[in-house]
Amino acid sequence: MRPEFVVDLVTRLDFPRVVGTDGEERGFGVVKQALAVFGVDAWFEEFSSPWLEFAEADFSLEGECFPIRPLVNPVFDGPWTPVARDADVEGPLTEPTDMPHPAEGSVAVRTELDRKNPCTAGASAQLFACQPEQGFVAYYLAAVGGLGRPMPSAYIDPHLEKFLVANLGRTCRFRWVSRDCTKTLRNLVAEIRGSQRPDEVICVGAHMDSFPGTVGANDNASGCARLVEFARWFKEHPPLRSMRFIWFTAEELDRRGSQAYVQARAGDADKIVLYVNVDGGVSVDHEWPHLGEAHREQINAITEESLASVCVPEGRGIFTQPEELDSTSDAAAFQDAGIPAIFLPGGGKRKTPGAHPHLPTDTVDKLDVANIQASLLLGTAFLDRIQQHRIAAADVQGPPT
Ligand SMILES: [Zn+2]
Repeated sequence: MRPEFVVDLVTRLDFPRVVGTDGEERGFGVVKQALAVFGVDAWFEEFSSPWLEFAEADFSLEGECFPIRPLVNPVFDGPWTPVARDADVEGPLTEPTDMPHPAEGSVAVRTELDRKNPCTAGASAQLFACQPEQGFVAYYLAAVGGLGRPMPSAYIDPHLEKFLVANLGRTCRFRWVSRDCTKTLRNLVAEIRGSQRPDEVICVGAHMDSFPGTVGANDNASGCARLVEFARWFKEHPPLRSMRFIWFTAEELDRRGSQAYVQARAGDADKIVLYVNVDGGVSVDHEWPHLGEAHREQINAITEESLASVCVPEGRGIFTQPEELDSTSDAAAFQDAGIPAIFLPGGGKRKTPGAHPHLPTDTVDKLDVANIQASLLLGTAFLDRIQQHRIAAADVQGPPT
C-alpha cells in the first residue's frame, strides 16, 4: 500500500468541495482520473434533491449595493436549529476590534483573512451580521470568526476592502433571500467484479463533499484517496466477491448521497452483503486507526483475524472498539436497510476531540502518514480476508423493497 499516494491525492483535493458546488464536481473529476490511470472506470449515479439557493445576496452601504458571497448555502439549515433561511440586518458597520461579538443589529467586518486558505481565496474581508432574535447556521462560523454564536457571514471582493474600512460606523444593510428548488446531485461509483461470487457485493464508501468553509483534508479527502488506493489494490488482486467503491455526495448534508444510493438499490439482483465506511481518522491528533464494530459477531471474528495479520509499530496498538454505530456518517443508510456496516477507522467512544472536525484547520499538513499507512493496511487486510468468509445470509436482509 502507498500512503504517499494517498497524501499526494489529498493534496490534489485541496480545495472546498461543498455539496452541489463546482468544487465537489472537480473533486469527483480528480478521483475519476486517478482511477482511470490504473484501468478502473467509474460512473455517476444521479438523484434529485430538495434544495435552497440564494435568490439575492447583497450588502448596501452609502447608497451602493454590492454582491456578497455567503459562506454557507441556506440548504444547510437542516441540521442546525434555530435557524433562519433569510438574513436581513441593518445597522452600523463596526470595526474589527468589535470582534468577536458584534452587537445585535450590527455588521462587523474582518479584514485579516488567511490568504493561503483556499476557502477564502479571492476575498479580502468577511462580514458578520448579527441578526437579532434568530441565530443562523452552522457552528463552524464560530471557528472562522472566533464568534460565540452562529450568524450569517459572507465574503466580499478585494476591491471593496478600503471602501468598507473608510465607512466604518455608517449604516449598512446585509441581506440574503433564498428560494426553494431542486438540485441534481450525484455519487461516483466504480466496481471490480468478483471472480466467484460476483452477485455478492461489498461496498466501500467515502464522502467527497467537505463541510462548508473547509477543505476537509482528513474529513474526507483522506477517505476518498484511500478508496482509490483500495480500488487499485483490488484491481491487482481480483476479489472473490464484487467490490464496489462509492464516493458519496452530501454526507455533510443529511447524508443524502448514501440515503439515495441505498434507496435506489432496493430490489436489485445484486446483494450488498457488507458496507465499509471510510471517513477521516488519519490526522495527527487521531488515535491509531481501528475498525469500528459491526453488530455481527461473525464480522468481529474476521476483524480480529485481520488485526492479527497487520504489523503494529512499537508502542502503538490496533484494537477493535465495540460500539453502537451512530448515525453521523454514510453507514447509517446501509444499517437502516439491514446491511452490516463497519467503520474504518472506528469512532464512537474512542473518538478523540481536537481533530479539527469541520474546522478550517482540517488541512493537508495535519495528516499523519503513519495513520494513513495503518488505515490502508488494516482496511486491505480486512477486505481481503472477508472475501474468504461466508457472510451469513440470515444476517443480511438487503435493502428494503
Ligand atoms: Zn466525514
